[in-house]
Amino acid sequence: MREGGGCADGATTEIDMPDIIVLMGPQGAGKGTQAHMLAERFRLPLVATGDMLREIALTDGPLGLQVREVQTAGRLVSDDILAEVIKTRLSKADCERGCILDGFPRTLPQARLLETISEELGHIIHVISIEVPRELLFKRLSGRRTCSSCGAIYHLEFKPSQTEGVCDLDGQPLFTRSDDHEESIARRLALYDEKTRPLLDHYEQSGRLKKVDGTGKPEDVFDRIVMASGLQDASESILSPNHSV
Ligand SMILES: [Zn+2]
Repeated sequence: MREGGGCADGATTEIDMPDIIVLMGPQGAGKGTQAHMLAERFRLPLVATGDMLREIALTDGPLGLQVREVQTAGRLVSDDILAEVIKTRLSKADCERGCILDGFPRTLPQARLLETISEELGHIIHVISIEVPRELLFKRLSGRRTCSSCGAIYHLEFKPSQTEGVCDLDGQPLFTRSDDHEESIARRLALYDEKTRPLLDHYEQSGRLKKVDGTGKPEDVFDRIVMASGLQDASESILSPNHSV
C-alpha cells in the first residue's frame, strides 16, 4: 500500500500522488455500489456530492442557507457553490491520499472547476466510466419495484420478491416509483447523454479516461475497475473485511 504523499528522495511518481477517482456512469450502471466498494477496498473517503449537499442544507451557516434556498426553489445548486463545497471537502485531512468522487463533475464547466481544484491541492484525476448498454440499463431500471410501506427495493428479474407484487418483509404491495417509469428513465438517460457525454470525450482526449464494462455481477465489475484504476490494493492489511452493501 502507499504511505501517504511524502516521498523522501523527491522522486515523485504518479502513484505517489493522491488520486481523485471520478466515477461516471448513467443511472442503473451501478455507480453508487461500485463507489462504496472502492472506498472500502482502498480505504479512501467517498465524496458523494448529493449526500454532501443534503447535509449542508441542514446546517445553519450562510452556505447551508444558500443551498436550502436553491433547493426549495427547485433549482440546481450553482457550479460556484459546488466548487466551494468540493474544495472544502477535498482539503480535509482524510482526503490527503485521495478520494472517490461520486456525482461530480457532471458537465464540462464542472470538469474544469475540478481540474483547478485538483491542481491547487496537488491531486491527480482519474476517470472511470462504467459502460452499460442502453437496453440493459432500461431493463435494470424499469424492473425495479419498491415497497409502499418500508421502501425495500426489488427487481422483477434480478431480485424478485417471493410473491409477485408483495414485499417479503411486511407483506405490503410493491409499486413502480415514478422515477422508474419508462418515460422518466428515457428522459434521464437522454439528459446524461446530452450533458455528460461531452465530458467523457473531454477526459478521453486528455488521456484520463478508463472505460470499464459494467455488465455482469457487481463483484466482476469491481475487479475490472480495480484493474483499470491502477490503484494499489490496501485490502491485505485489513484484518476483517466488512462487506456491507
Ligand atoms: Zn416492505
